[in-house]
Amino acid sequence: MNGHETNFDGRDISTRNAINNASAQFFEIANSKGFLNVEETCPRWLLFFATHVALMHSELSEALEAAREDFEQKSEKIPEFTLIEEEFADVIIRVLMIAKRYNLDVGGAVVAKSHYNEGRPERHGGKAF
Ligand SMILES: [Mg+2]
Repeated sequence: MNGHETNFDGRDISTRNAINNASAQFFEIANSKGFLNVEETCPRWLLFFATHVALMHSELSEALEAAREDFEQKSEKIPEFTLIEEEFADVIIRVLMIAKRYNLDVGGAVVAKSHYNEGRPERHGGKAF
């Protein structure tokens, strides 16, 4: 990660040094606050959970990329569906798989939250969307 041989001019070297100095500063701050030793402070099961939540995000990012390329793009794996449909399916599969792994009642929560949402006023919260 260090010592790349590249033809940097003086401006590039200044940019590189500024960014790398900021990197060192941000590392020191985060490290001094205890955020960088999660292997020691965070239980393994929670790191596993966090990894799977990140993978849920990645499936949504894949759906977004598919939409950016071609909203109607067909899935190569399940050609009777679009790639966006496939990626949404991946999200749901990952969520429900992890829900079972951690014994979470997502089915009950979906029903309860749907009922709650039904009772909310129109455009509750007053946000633009
Ligand atoms: Mg996927």
